[in-house]
Amino acid sequence: MSVPTVHRSAFHNREVGAAELVRDGVWAVPLPLTGSPVLSVIVHLLRHDDGLVLVDAGYPDDACWETLTAAIAAAGFGVGDITHLLLTHNHPDHIGLAARVREASGAPIAIHPLDAFQLQRPLRGTFFDQLERELRLARLPADVLAEMVDSSRRLAAHSDDLLVDDFLADGQLLRFGGLELEVLWTPGHARGHVSLLDRARRLLIGGDVILPEGEVQVGLVSDEDDDPVAQLRDSLRRIAALPIDLLLPGHQYRFDDVATVVARTLGEQDARLARAAEVLARRPGASAWELTTQLDWGRPWERIGLTGRRFAVMQAMGWQRYLERRAG
Ligand SMILES: [Zn+2]
Ligand SMILES: [Zn+2]
Repeated sequence: MSVPTVHRSAFHNREVGAAELVRDGVWAVPLPLTGSPVLSVIVHLLRHDDGLVLVDAGYPDDACWETLTAAIAAAGFGVGDITHLLLTHNHPDHIGLAARVREASGAPIAIHPLDAFQLQRPLRGTFFDQLERELRLARLPADVLAEMVDSSRRLAAHSDDLLVDDFLADGQLLRFGGLELEVLWTPGHARGHVSLLDRARRLLIGGDVILPEGEVQVGLVSDEDDDPVAQLRDSLRRIAALPIDLLLPGHQYRFDDVATVVARTLGEQDARLARAAEVLARRPGASAWELTTQLDWGRPWERIGLTGRRFAVMQAMGWQRYLERRAG
């Protein structure tokens, strides 16, 4: 089973873990997500001959900044030693500090073009435009929709104005003084989500594409061509086939039994899809919102807060789209 780690106990105790050296020259650094039910995001530092590569950045606040800079100092470096900042995807817990890190270090920021706001905004609008479109497609009552978008705005700043410097492409080999990372486009959780493969160390920095426990949140279904569940399933199968012994996710804790975790995730998703299909068969033409309220979310609907309800409706929307597409 999974590697027993400090981060694993921290996750089970609902605490933010301490930074850990994972392999020689690789650190996993949990940053606190103040106000979020997710509690923390894990960013990664990789040493190379000329400094450090940072993968992901937390919220744009001082709590994340101080935790990150303390971990960099404990590793024997300064923020100025960061030569490159790579972002797995554009969610607020992964990109918030990106501009501040660049300002302090001069490191260029790279992301997949599908998650670069500067390219996405003219086509699809801001994150909140897309979220609103999804919730309208799900046919939420107007007052619930407004409340949900509002609470999402209050939860986290989305840094929609972040201008990145470089774009990452599937299969691209990034070389930094003795360190090589291969970019894998692993969409599903976000359209432009990437994972980073270190073949020499047989490890994958997985962002939010897979978690050791629980479900992966699927990306927005706000446009005709969005089918994040299908994309996620393909990404997971691709990850299961990689030559790796260790997966470093962006939340929870690292694990080594990658094929088992992929099989569990896909199996649980199959069960979720089957239950969604049953509800939709009983209620032809049901909206994703109706579907959401009919499914079992592990606790009574009345006890799920607005953020939990938003995550639920996004999942249901993804399953509905996946099932529609496969109904012929
Ligand atoms: Zn994410
Ligand atoms: Zn995340």
